[in-house]
Amino acid sequence: MRDGYETREFWPFECLRCLHVWEEMYVVRRLADDHGNEVEVWLSSGVPVQPPWVGASCPGCGDYRVTSFPTGYLARHPELMAAPEPEPLAAAAAPAARPVRAPVVTRTPLPGRLLVAVGAPVALFVGYELYRNLVVAAPMHH
Ligand SMILES: [Zn+2]
Repeated sequence: MRDGYETREFWPFECLRCLHVWEEMYVVRRLADDHGNEVEVWLSSGVPVQPPWVGASCPGCGDYRVTSFPTGYLARHPELMAAPEPEPLAAAAAPAARPVRAPVVTRTPLPGRLLVAVGAPVALFVGYELYRNLVVAAPMHH
């Protein structure tokens, strides 16, 4: 025995692109097949359609990125129909303040560079002194 019944469901939608809010009325025809499994047939204006969570599209801009509210949601929140409020998620998703760290610059530390700048002339000077003592000054011992 197959029995079926129909219920009316109002599905509120909101377009994620243009923030248009609207409501569609569906007729849900619930049937039980021979194995007792319940089958839902969604009707819109008497025409079988995709379930609202599958095929909904915005009547304003045609975008498929729409979200639906629980049935009857708009009845409890009529202000949504007039002026949809911006998603509060944007503020919560703002990046948390992080400590600003100076960028790490890879360069030779200043002491090292100073050592090279000072050390080269010193090495030259010491080398010259050694050279002069060994070569130039040596003959003076005669
Ligand atoms: Zn839209």
